[in-house]
Amino acid sequence: MPSFPGRVCASCGKTYTAHRKDQKCCSRTCTGAYRRAQTPKKYKACAHCGELFEIPNGGGKSRKAAAMFCSRDCVRDGHGWRAPVEHICDQCGETFTAPVKDEAKHRFCSTTCADAHRGSGKVSKPCANCGEIFTSSPCRADEQTCSRECASAWYVRDRSKGWQGGVVDQNGRKFRRIDRDGYAAKYEGEHRLAAERVIGRKMKRGEVVLCIDGNNDNFAAENLYMLPSQKEFGLVKMGTLPWPTESNLATYRERGYVRPDVVIVLHEWTNGKRMNAKGNRHIRRHPQADEIIIRRRAGASVRDLARDFGTSMSTMAATVRNRL
Ligand SMILES: [Zn+2]
Ligand SMILES: [Zn+2]
Ligand SMILES: [Zn+2]
Ligand SMILES: [Zn+2]
Repeated sequence: MPSFPGRVCASCGKTYTAHRKDQKCCSRTCTGAYRRAQTPKKYKACAHCGELFEIPNGGGKSRKAAAMFCSRDCVRDGHGWRAPVEHICDQCGETFTAPVKDEAKHRFCSTTCADAHRGSGKVSKPCANCGEIFTSSPCRADEQTCSRECASAWYVRDRSKGWQGGVVDQNGRKFRRIDRDGYAAKYEGEHRLAAERVIGRKMKRGEVVLCIDGNNDNFAAENLYMLPSQKEFGLVKMGTLPWPTESNLATYRERGYVRPDVVIVLHEWTNGKRMNAKGNRHIRRHPQADEIIIRRRAGASVRDLARDFGTSMSTMAATVRNRL
């Protein structure tokens, strides 16, 4: 290989040893730079600011494909795009630029930072119901339970937003919820609970408490009257016994129920005839009613009586039943 020492590079001006007779530059880089310097440059007017800027040298095709704008700023302004604004990243604290609309704010410089921030505020605490440690995100910081199961077990009664004190209205009376371990919810009348507190024991099954003044929300002890059974209550309700005027709770526990001393009128008679409550018509007493009752008591069947006294069996049955 021939060598021509002491040549001067046409591009960078360094002294070098050439290997070809007509070699001009020291290296390929310098050759490229030298050739570019020889060819005339091409320019184009920027579509935004109108200044001339250099475009790649070449034929018609490359000239058409060449850029319209001289700089990135001209690209943005030429298209009417928003100018980038400086922000500080909430996660890493570094400054970054982002184009924004109005006063909008970019919080994070990157999706990496956004993801990191999302996981950073998580809190671990014990579940209020089962006690296991669980993690909740900052947006649900007041969460107390680890799961839906624990939530439905925990948010009951007064912990629930819908809790109204466990009192419901039933037939114009207030009933309070009583919780017993191992049982489904039971509701007991507020007036009955008030009576229980006065007599000092639980209400027995069938016992009835009524409010003397008719106001079913008046649970004062002197307004409550206790009856031993629905049957006694029925007598009071239908007017056979007078409506009580005074509470009997004070004596109820020791002496039990004392029925007021009144004559019980079982039938309503007008002019010696009983009125049929349903039809508002007189019920005629069978002329031989006394005899019928006596024979029925002695063991005669309704069938025989009906035959002997000339009535239908249903009429005879009613005669016997009503003591007519
Ligand atoms: Zn060179
Ligand atoms: Zn421009
Ligand atoms: Zn960041
Ligand atoms: Zn739990």
